[in-house]
Amino acid sequence: MKLTLYMMTVVLLLLLVLAGYIFYNEQALPGAYQRVLNEAGQIAQNEAGNVEYADKTLNDTTALGYFPVDNTGKQVEGLSDLVNTFMDNQIVKQSDHDVVSFYYKKTDRGNGYMSYDLYKDVYKYGFGNYKKDTSSLLATQYYYGGRNLTFEGLFESFSLEKDDILSALMSTINQVTNEKEKQLLQASLSVDTLKTLGYIYNPDGFSVLVKQEDGMLSPVALNIDALVPYFKEHLLLSDAHKSIYQSRIAEIKEKREKLIASRLDEIIATIRNNGATNKVALTFDDGPRADTTPRILDVLKQYDVKATFFILGQNIAGNENLLKREVQEGHELGNHTFTHRSLPTLTDDEVKEEIGKTQKMIEDITGVKPKSLRPPYGAYNQKVAELAKLPIALWNIDSEDWKSRNVNSIQHQVLDTTIGGSIILVHDIHEESAQSVESLILGLRERGFEFVTFSELYQDGQVLPNVVYFSHNDARKAD
Ligand SMILES: [Zn+2]
Repeated sequence: MKLTLYMMTVVLLLLLVLAGYIFYNEQALPGAYQRVLNEAGQIAQNEAGNVEYADKTLNDTTALGYFPVDNTGKQVEGLSDLVNTFMDNQIVKQSDHDVVSFYYKKTDRGNGYMSYDLYKDVYKYGFGNYKKDTSSLLATQYYYGGRNLTFEGLFESFSLEKDDILSALMSTINQVTNEKEKQLLQASLSVDTLKTLGYIYNPDGFSVLVKQEDGMLSPVALNIDALVPYFKEHLLLSDAHKSIYQSRIAEIKEKREKLIASRLDEIIATIRNNGATNKVALTFDDGPRADTTPRILDVLKQYDVKATFFILGQNIAGNENLLKREVQEGHELGNHTFTHRSLPTLTDDEVKEEIGKTQKMIEDITGVKPKSLRPPYGAYNQKVAELAKLPIALWNIDSEDWKSRNVNSIQHQVLDTTIGGSIILVHDIHEESAQSVESLILGLRERGFEFVTFSELYQDGQVLPNVVYFSHNDARKAD
């Protein structure tokens, strides 16, 4: 009898404690939620800078999403979709009161190259407080020059070498030893899915994100040795990959050049058939110059406009930081020779020196190879094009800033004549040109135009040697 009473008292006390705990936990929840919200927000901000925030709640689980924004206040292209997908996918998998935070960790990898790692932190609630339970890496997105780098974008000439790249990819997949993973890869990879294929690339390895049977994405490691020689050289991350690249690039380049030569007419015909576009390319020649170029860069940054700078080699010394800044802020660099002489009047050796010297200086300073040549005065011939081994970037809209040196005339000249797909010529060495840039950007935007770099006017950003480019649908063989 005494024992039963004792037991009942113990049970009663335990129930009281439990009820007290539950009551306390419920009472403490709003405060704890506020604290976890602050903590998760702080982490997201520390890792990615400015972020926007959204939440979703389902079945008592809350998902927090943090979306990085750039310096103009726009969400960074391509990142939000993935956060939203994971928020929707993973919210049902948690238990009561859980808080799941999705945020990016931004890493500057140098030379205009960034990565964003998407993390998922799970916070569990108990004893009136939230504690971080797990933190896992879900995906990595790469950015180059401020733009999302797709899987295709890793390759130097994807559309041209599609067949070779696909067969290298298939042989890569065949090396996967886990049968289930191999089947999932084979089922999910095709020409059409490569553009949106998620991947994780770091110096330790390469994985692609594959949809599992439950719809979740998970990384599958690939040995990409066979793909590496087709990469853009500056995107290679490990020494092993760099050495594989070096050992095969001569052979691949030779094949690439033959392929380009055999398809040149077809490639030019495709460009000439390009349909209407609202894209235009602002291009600046003859810089860098210490007083005018930084002001133009400030305006471009303020309005998030990416432009193309054709660099005059003799102006580089003392302005090295401007070149670095141009690359870091997502602009494209081109070669405008070393001393601004008319190339067709020079000997072969002189042409090679004019171009080669500038090319090397820019690459040494920025780590990036200029993509194209703008010959001084627009003067070129077939010989120059062959010696340059670079696409020739001309223009169809001339601001005539060098002639008028007048802000009003520059505005009229550009705003009255620009059509979609134009390449607009301005010089970043004149005071009046620097003064005009803001009104050119505002005026062109008002007319519905969108700004891209020179090479971005063309499919996959691919521009080719021996081709002279005037606008998005005007390209000619260099003869
Ligand atoms: Zn010039």
